[in-house]
Amino acid sequence: MTTVTDTGDLAARLARGDRRALARAVTLVESTRADHREQAAELMEAVRGAGREALRIGLSGTPGVGKSSFIEAFGSMLVEEGKRVAVLAVDPSSARSGGSILGDKTRMERLSRMPEAFIRPSPSATHLGGVARRTREAVGLCEAAGFDVVLIETVGVGQSETMVAAMCDLFVLLLAPAGGDELQGVKRGIMEMADLVLVNKADGDLKATATRTVADYAGALRLLRKRPQDPDGFPKAMPVSAMEEAGLDTAWAEMRALADWRRASGWWARTRAEQAAHWFEETVREGLLARLRDPAARAEMDRLADAVARGEISVEAAAADMLGRLGG
Ligand code: GDP
Repeated sequence: MTTVTDTGDLAARLARGDRRALARAVTLVESTRADHREQAAELMEAVRGAGREALRIGLSGTPGVGKSSFIEAFGSMLVEEGKRVAVLAVDPSSARSGGSILGDKTRMERLSRMPEAFIRPSPSATHLGGVARRTREAVGLCEAAGFDVVLIETVGVGQSETMVAAMCDLFVLLLAPAGGDELQGVKRGIMEMADLVLVNKADGDLKATATRTVADYAGALRLLRKRPQDPDGFPKAMPVSAMEEAGLDTAWAEMRALADWRRASGWWARTRAEQAAHWFEETVREGLLARLRDPAARAEMDRLADAVARGEISVEAAAADMLGRLGG
């Protein structure tokens, strides 16, 4: 992006729900260029308090479990119900390889053709923290553009789920049917985050196994926790089939019921306020780290490290010197 962005104009187009403006805005918040960061901050300030609130749903599951099939079917169902649906992704592997889930548009062919849908792959970056921060900004932009539901997909081993949970109202874990009663090596931390466990592929030969898997997880979830902000029965496990589009309406009804409960209890507003405070701290931290990566700062770090190694300055004095420079 070489042109100067008129953030006021972009914010106005966003408010009208213009998808091209949304795509442009997301590109802007994903940029690491200093002038873009400034414009992104201006834009986020311009859209703040637009009074629009989407239901933010985190969705996690290991590769192959059927996330994209589920999002395709579930998202299309919501659009057919008259909802506007945005799909964003947080992919820890994109932090290393530049590859990203959702990179392949054909994964959600039907949904991506719908004018009421907006699909965006994970930004690639060197730091998962940076990916998460930009995704959170993108969530805010989708809300400002009047989307009703924002699905945030992640595939990870814990850290990315924690980040996604910190920007969501609900967290859904997708699992595959598994034989026996062993839980599928799902990390306890991820199970604890889940409000809804959906056992996908509950169709054909896998249907009976799926039913057993649902029962196993329902038992495990009961043991894990009962949070005061949840109505009876949550967290819940249930079967779905993305392929046969079965159970999706029931899953959606459960998500809405939980969201309504949380809204009415005050949990929603309190949690969103805490999340905003959390991301403020993260953004400051990320900004300081970015300053450290600046070539001039890097050179200064190296110079001070050499001086420390030679015993010319103490670790503490060198660190104070460096922090003083970064703070400016
Ligand atoms: P992802 O890697 O989690 O995004 O998984 P995909 O959506 O790409 O699905 C992985 C594989 O599982 C594909 O071969 C799908 O056709 C298959 N699959 C997805 N959902 C279902 C389902 O509901 N039932 C069955 N039988 N297969 C499914």
